Amino acid sequence: MDRRAMRTIDASEVTARIREMSIESNYHVDPAYVRKVEEAKAGETSSLGLMVLDQITENAALASAERVPYCQDTGVSIVFAEVGQDVRIEGGLLEDAINEGVRQGYRDGFLRGSVVNDPLRRVNTKDNTPAVIHYRVVEGDRLKLYFAAKGTGAENMSMARMLKPSDGREGVIQTIVDHVFNSGGNPCPPVLLGIGLGGSIEKAALQAKWALFRELGAPNPDPLVAELERDILEAVNQTGVGPMGMGGDTTCIAVHVETYACHIGALPICVNVECHAHRHAEVVL
Ligand code: SF4
Repeated sequence: MDRRAMRTIDASEVTARIREMSIESNYHVDPAYVRKVEEAKAGETSSLGLMVLDQITENAALASAERVPYCQDTGVSIVFAEVGQDVRIEGGLLEDAINEGVRQGYRDGFLRGSVVNDPLRRVNTKDNTPAVIHYRVVEGDRLKLYFAAKGTGAENMSMARMLKPSDGREGVIQTIVDHVFNSGGNPCPPVLLGIGLGGSIEKAALQAKWALFRELGAPNPDPLVAELERDILEAVNQTGVGPMGMGGDTTCIAVHVETYACHIGALPICVNVECHAHRHAEVVL
């Protein structure tokens, strides 16, 4: 029998860290995203597009300095929890601890409650709970929490589809390009595209969301997938949608593709679109 000691983490510690990440990520958009926008200015040939890129970086600096939300849409709270199998949470349920952190963060940070209790009754919960939480059991005695405030203009422009295997690589690229072009300014570009390829319909959706948590612009370690990411980025930036759909060269900041094994007869694809309010944080307990 394995007698390894379990490491204990108090639920209140989880709540405190989620509270902090809710507030800080809403005030400070991902600095790597802002750097990418700064770099993109040099290649932006549209004067309107350039003006929007200037406004994005100015807004990011102002929100950080004044400690106010970067955007009025404070998003749905998305949490990925990687739970080491040698960790035990004491003092309450992990899920309750996460939701309490969101509740305190959105209240104390004066962040808009953007969640309704039910898709039909649509009563605002006023504290942005519940969060959308995904769990993964991993090796070790740590708990890693990833937090995102996901704006819905972009989330609404996300897409899942079952392609045919014969559609292949070119079909994947064309599907994404058509989708981004048809979405226009709705997802508040320049966007970051999280793409789940393979698996099943729900696995592709989960992979697409998870892809958004990767270090911005870091390529997939598989060279074949990394090449696909580069080709999608180039093709999407040729659509001319531009910043906020005003036209220009900067439609997309980065493309992250995550793949998974799939059925011989299927090619599931999901695109999770992220806007210029790329608000992410992570912590290890
Ligand atoms: S989609 Fe993003 S940038 Fe647009 S309003 Fe929502 S949070 Fe703000």
